[in-house]
Amino acid sequence: MRLRNKVALITGAGSGIGRESAVLFAKEGAKVVVVDLDEQAGKQVADEIRSAEGQALFHRADVSLNEDCKRMVDFAEKSFGALHVLFNNAGIMHHEDGDSQETVESIWDTTMNVNAKGVFLGCKFAIPLIRRSGGGSIINTASFVAFMGAATPQIAYTASKGAVVSMTKELAVIHAKENIRINAICPGPLQTELLMSYLNTQEKRKRRLVHIPMGRFGEAREVAATALFLASEESSYITGTEILVDGGITAAYVTPE
Ligand code: NAD
Repeated sequence: MRLRNKVALITGAGSGIGRESAVLFAKEGAKVVVVDLDEQAGKQVADEIRSAEGQALFHRADVSLNEDCKRMVDFAEKSFGALHVLFNNAGIMHHEDGDSQETVESIWDTTMNVNAKGVFLGCKFAIPLIRRSGGGSIINTASFVAFMGAATPQIAYTASKGAVVSMTKELAVIHAKENIRINAICPGPLQTELLMSYLNTQEKRKRRLVHIPMGRFGEAREVAATALFLASEESSYITGTEILVDGGITAAYVTPE
C-alpha cells in the first residue's frame, strides 16, 4: 500500500477529482479527511470508504474562510493524530465568469477566494501540522488554463489557476528543507460535473474536443492517480513543479486529424 499510516486531507472531496482521490487514497491505506462545502455529498464519500473497510471522516468546511481552514486541519490532527498529505483541490468555475468586459467584480472575488485564497489558507494552517508529523506532501489543483488561458473566456478562473501555479513554486522552495514537498496538478478538460455543466451542448463539447490530441475528455480517476503519485514516496525528489494531465492539449500546436 502506497499511503500506509498516512493521514490525508482532501478538499472538494464530495465530487469529481476529490472524490476519486479520497476513494483511491483510502484503498492505498491512508486515513482520509473528506472535506467539502456540500455536506451530503461529502458524507456519502466518507460512508462509501468506510463500507469498503477504509478509514475516512467527513468534515464540512468552506476553503475560502480562514476559520474553516484552521478548523479542518485541526480536525484531521485530532481525529487521526497527524497530517501528512494536504490535497488543496476544491475549486469553482462560475457560469458568469467571462471576458474582462462582462465579468463583474463579485464573480472575480468569489472565484479568487475559493480557488486561490483557499490554497493559501490550506497551506497556511496545514504546514505547521505536516511539519509536526515529520513532513509530507501538498498537492494543489491548478489547470492547464494557467499556461494558455481558456478558449472560452473565464478571466477570474484563469487568473486564479495561474496564482495556484506560482504560489506552489514559492511554497515549495520555502519549505523544501522541512521535508514538505509541494506540487501542482494541471488537469485538462475532464468529464466531470464542473466542466460538463459549462460545456452544456453537444456543439460546445465538440468545439473543445477539437483541441485535444487524444480526442476525448479526461476522467477524474486519471487525475486522482497522479495525485496518488505526488502524495506517495514514489515522488520523493519532486517539488515545486506542475504535472499536466491534459491529453496533450498544451502540447498541441497542430491537432492531428
Ligand atoms: P467538481 O465540481 O466535481 O468538485 C468540486 C468540489 O468542490 C465539489 O464537491 C464542491 O462542493 C466543492 N467545493 C466548491 N467550493 C468549495 C468551497 N468553497 N469549500 C469547500 N469545497 C468546495 O469539480 P472537479 O472537476 O472535480 O474539480 C476539482 C478541481 O479541479 C477544481 O479545483 C477545478 O478547478 C480543477 N479542474 C477541473 C477541470 C475539469 O475539467 N473538471 C479541469 C482543470 C482543473
